[in-house]
Amino acid sequence: MRPDLAVSIDDVEAVRARVADVAVVTPTVPTATLSERVGTQVSLKLESIQPTGSFKVRGAASKIASLDANTAARGVVTASTGNHGRAVAHVARSLGIPATVCVSHNVPPGKVRALRALGCDLAVGGHSQTDGLAAAEALVADRGMTLVHPFDDRAVIAGQGTIGVEIAEQRSDVGTVVVPLSGGGLISGVAVAVKARCPWARVIGVSMERGAVMAASLSAGHPVELDEEPTLADSLQGGIGTDNRYTLAITQALVDDVVLVTEQQIWDAMRFVLHHHRVVLEGGGAVGVAALLAGRLAAPGPVVVVASGANAEDAQIAALAGAADAPPT
Ligand SMILES: *Cc1c(COP(=O)(O)O)cnc(C)c1O
Repeated sequence: MRPDLAVSIDDVEAVRARVADVAVVTPTVPTATLSERVGTQVSLKLESIQPTGSFKVRGAASKIASLDANTAARGVVTASTGNHGRAVAHVARSLGIPATVCVSHNVPPGKVRALRALGCDLAVGGHSQTDGLAAAEALVADRGMTLVHPFDDRAVIAGQGTIGVEIAEQRSDVGTVVVPLSGGGLISGVAVAVKARCPWARVIGVSMERGAVMAASLSAGHPVELDEEPTLADSLQGGIGTDNRYTLAITQALVDDVVLVTEQQIWDAMRFVLHHHRVVLEGGGAVGVAALLAGRLAAPGPVVVVASGANAEDAQIAALAGAADAPPT
């Protein structure tokens, strides 16, 4: 137990019931092929089968279901058009709470259609992600809506931590947990739970080489900003916030190591899980497998890899199924 940290195992246990109303308990599936390659038993924690295709429903459910009735009635808002935005829209609808996603004119029509289909309100304006965030903050100030932060929020971190509790129950002898890492909400929650339940286990973060903001911030000892570069792991893009409150400190305290993977390694991992397991993972969801396949982890087994999301583009899936050596451009 680490009483100095902002999120505890008790916080994680306290949100389990709320999370279970919307998210499913995902299976931890042993993979013989990967185990042979790595030389120790490896399992995939299939968050890719959650409603909306990623673990983000857990944090969104934890946060949104914690709001009192009056606050909830004013609605929730986010500026994310990716997995977090989808999760917020889905959870809000299933709980009967109004949700608004602020999107800029630069957001591709396919993403806008997907969000509309989830039944949320769209506030369209501006020309960048920063404009979207400013619009969301204005709705918080003017209408008393609640911003659901994608990672730097105690309720969100506790929600993601339910993955760690499940891993400890499903594989009580786990030696290493491998976790995709961007803003750090996922790894913070998982590490709080795993270190409490299985204190001997190592928790390893994996990011893409192209724009690994948390890795750079850990080295610097404070939040740093990096330019965004195009990557297959688009769900891992974005910073940790120059005013980061929770995830940098928890990651510093509990995460044992962070490794980086190349675009080719991510592509090879996406292809590997499709061919060997008939599992579709998006780039950000496949970085853990990528690190293992690339021999980047000398990990004590058994190893559990969090396969965090499924939302690859159709064109990518078609190219993967065709066994292409490189992603479509
Ligand atoms: C958001 C996301 C992550 C990273 O989560 P953080 O809490 O930002 O570190 C990993 N994988 C997928 C598929 C995601 O959508």
